Amino acid sequence: MDLSNVPSLISPVVSEFLSRRHKHYIGGEWVDSVSGKTTTVEDPATGLTLATVAEGDAADVDLAVAAARKAFESGPWPSMSPIERGKLITRLAMRIEELADELAEIEAIDGGKPLAFARHGDMSQVYTTYHYMAGWASKLNGEQIQVTGGGDVLAYTLRQPVGVAGLILPWNFPQVLLSYKLAPALATGCTVVIKPAEQTPLSSIRLAEIIEEVGFPPGVVNVVTGFGDTAGAAIAAHPDVDKIAFTGSTEIGKIVARAATGTMKRITLELGGKSPVIVFPDADMEKTIPGIAGAGFYHQGQVCTAGTRIYVHKSVHDRLLEGLAEQGAGWKAGHPLQPGTTLGPLISDEQLQRVSYYIDEGRKSGASVVSGGKRIGNAGYFVEPTILANTDHTMSVVREEIFGPVICAMSFDDDDLDQIARSANDTPYGLAASIWTSNLSVAHKMASRIKAGNVWINSHSAFDSALPFGGAKQSGQGRECGFEAIRAYAELKSVSAAL
Ligand code: NAD
Repeated sequence: MDLSNVPSLISPVVSEFLSRRHKHYIGGEWVDSVSGKTTTVEDPATGLTLATVAEGDAADVDLAVAAARKAFESGPWPSMSPIERGKLITRLAMRIEELADELAEIEAIDGGKPLAFARHGDMSQVYTTYHYMAGWASKLNGEQIQVTGGGDVLAYTLRQPVGVAGLILPWNFPQVLLSYKLAPALATGCTVVIKPAEQTPLSSIRLAEIIEEVGFPPGVVNVVTGFGDTAGAAIAAHPDVDKIAFTGSTEIGKIVARAATGTMKRITLELGGKSPVIVFPDADMEKTIPGIAGAGFYHQGQVCTAGTRIYVHKSVHDRLLEGLAEQGAGWKAGHPLQPGTTLGPLISDEQLQRVSYYIDEGRKSGASVVSGGKRIGNAGYFVEPTILANTDHTMSVVREEIFGPVICAMSFDDDDLDQIARSANDTPYGLAASIWTSNLSVAHKMASRIKAGNVWINSHSAFDSALPFGGAKQSGQGRECGFEAIRAYAELKSVSAAL
């Protein structure tokens, strides 16, 4: 892989952005860390330093929470009409749409996602989510309730913003997952403190500049960059934060939930997954094969909903695996900014070690490597799309989230939907699943048996701002997107008036 032309592929505007010394955005000001500390961000395709950012900790979080509290309680934000708030969110959506090429480039270079995916996958979801949520700002309705006791009583509910929300993000879809949190938070009238992942803080910093430019009042949106066990932990435990919205691993999600429960914060958690993909013999293989390759290999498998456990009817097992191997070999590794790249690097050396460890474990426990299985090159953190066959539920590759381009295949040979569902449900996770068949009756029967927050039929990882998204079992708590997201940032108050 030749990476020598990469510097020339970075646009002047992004080059200039990268060269700045990046600060926190607190109370409408750009400030260094109280400690004066900074940290660096690397390009995972080259391992080279991309930018320097402020490294925040509890002291910076205190300032950001105080600014968010002040903006929530006083100033223009709480008295702004819902229509005005909605218009401001729409202005943000439109500015993101105008700057989508630049934002996608930052996302691609910082997170290792091929530019075309960042531009047409991530960014279009991002501005669509702000556009969609802007409309909810003026529809935060309660309802009139008929009380059971009778008498002259007027009872109704009010849906009011929950307060200051702490938004803690992962590195795989930084802007998409921020929009899933920030757009409903702003629509309900909350104020926020954002903590992007330490690996990918750059697009959140750029977004804060856009937020300032379109005219959000100071303190409504604050960004503190830094690490999880310092800045993130301080947000999760902060007594003046009313709600935590966290996306990340199940392991850290449990730590965050415990910290947040100390002051009974409202919590939404979007966590890990190990999603099953079920292929029936009547599936349209022309669509199923590329669909499942995308489910497993898109963004190098670093997708919470990645389809990583395939249950395929034995009559189409070999054809599917041959097709997937062919597809995997066709994914072009390269720098995310190089034209034609469809396979970027993993996010870090740590992630490369983790994925390599699991591939070895799979081999040792008896799985056969149908294709892939090796690192690509020495620069950056590239791994081949990998297919493991002859796997079963005793193997860690089948039970645990790998978060790399590794698909495990298993077969079934009867039509017992309950048995297939038992296998598909046999992990602690319950984020997503897909079902591939041309028999709609089978598809819907299967969908009802799967224990997951999201089930796709003849597609995988199809998201929409209007459709609730979240996990069952240890894949999370609560939902993002749609009206469910608005609920998650609002407190319901019952008012009862004796007339
Ligand atoms: P992670 O859990 O390591 O980190 C997520 C965030 O939590 C980061 O900002 C990190 O700094 C912060 N953090 C770490 N320790 C913390 C602590 N003690 N207190 C507070 N914050 C802390 O996850 P990651 O490696 O960034 O992302 C990958 C994981 O995210 C995978 O498990 C993936 O499945 C999951 N994920 C889930 C969804 C979903 O919607 N369900 C979406 C994307 C990613």
